[in-house]
Amino acid sequence: MISEKMKTLVAGSSAIRAMFEDGVRLAQKYGAENVFDFSLGNPNLEPPESVRQAVIDVLAEDSPTLVHGYMDNCGYPDVRQKVAESINRRFGTAFSKDNIVMTVGAAGGLNVIFNTLMNPGDEVITFAPYFGEYKSYAANCHAVLKAVPADTSSFQPNLAELEKMIGPKTRIVLINSPNNPTGVIYSEETIVSLSALLERKQKELGTDIYLVADEPYRELAYDGIEVPYVTRHYKNAIVGYSWSKSLSLPGERIGYLLIPDSVADFEDVRAAVSTAVRIMGFVNAPSLLQRAVAKCLDECADIDFYDKNRKALYEGLTSAGYECVYPQGAFYMFVKTPVDDDKAFCERAKNDFRLLLVPGSAFGCSGYVRIAYCVSPDTIRRSMPAFKALMESYTK
Ligand code: PLP
Repeated sequence: MISEKMKTLVAGSSAIRAMFEDGVRLAQKYGAENVFDFSLGNPNLEPPESVRQAVIDVLAEDSPTLVHGYMDNCGYPDVRQKVAESINRRFGTAFSKDNIVMTVGAAGGLNVIFNTLMNPGDEVITFAPYFGEYKSYAANCHAVLKAVPADTSSFQPNLAELEKMIGPKTRIVLINSPNNPTGVIYSEETIVSLSALLERKQKELGTDIYLVADEPYRELAYDGIEVPYVTRHYKNAIVGYSWSKSLSLPGERIGYLLIPDSVADFEDVRAAVSTAVRIMGFVNAPSLLQRAVAKCLDECADIDFYDKNRKALYEGLTSAGYECVYPQGAFYMFVKTPVDDDKAFCERAKNDFRLLLVPGSAFGCSGYVRIAYCVSPDTIRRSMPAFKALMESYTK
């Protein structure tokens, strides 16, 4: 008999799993080339060649004990120092290895920091639409995820609503920019206002409110748009990063948490994070990948590839009558459905047009669908008649 907690979590994640299984079934029936799968944020790009070379070099150069052994739960000190220096070079900060904890991707990092900071019943507040897994991460430590309703005119965070929702149990405010699923980037002005609001609330409530920035898409920002660095604006800010998207390494599970000295109870937080990494079963981030990414800190997957997809998809969809905020980053578009029922829309897209899309309700924002454009340009081009016919099936 499985636990009650897992029953709920399995039920919550069954929609995306069902979609994955449907995709496999449709591909078998109609041929993979006739199924347009926009459902997963799985990069379609190879990692840069330098990453492959780095893995080979690590295996050739370093001693087996160094590459394959246990280590400090926070990760190799020299790797953490290199990561800190790379952040300092780019963002004008002054971090050291003591501020970096290597993690098992962004998901591992978020679970570790949630477990470190939250007691059962504590609250993490995020902004809808949000990455659906956040809910399960909160449930993992018996905390509660609350979402500020979406401002659908811009999908920028609604700070007035956030202010109303913050209370004595609010331990974390979680932001994700560039955003999954909207592609929106939060401006410096927004981060400054958010920081001022959190400072004010901390004083008013006499609590610590940590701002956690989930940044797996930091490098995927188009048109030269800057993604503000939150630690420059708020003392209690923590960054969760991952190379899953920037180096196309989602299966390798490698990322880090950045915890500045300025956060409340820094020494305790750091010691607790190190313990959480171990006892949550990760023990440490994958050793080979730690050493490999340290050699590729200035590398990034080919952003132009996603940018071209962004332009082609946006142009195609808007000329077919769809409405969507033009994404500034990541590789997702959040498109308004011509009917309120986004799940029914996705069912029709799948069954009648072999388009696999994710309903906005999976991100806490119904009436929209997420389209992941980390696919081949050919998939986008060939799917356009299907998107057009899908819209016409509602309007004609
Ligand atoms: N956060 C967001 C917003 C994501 O979109 C994802 C993955 O798609 C993750 C976290 C998890 O990233 P990782 O694969 O690095 O654990």
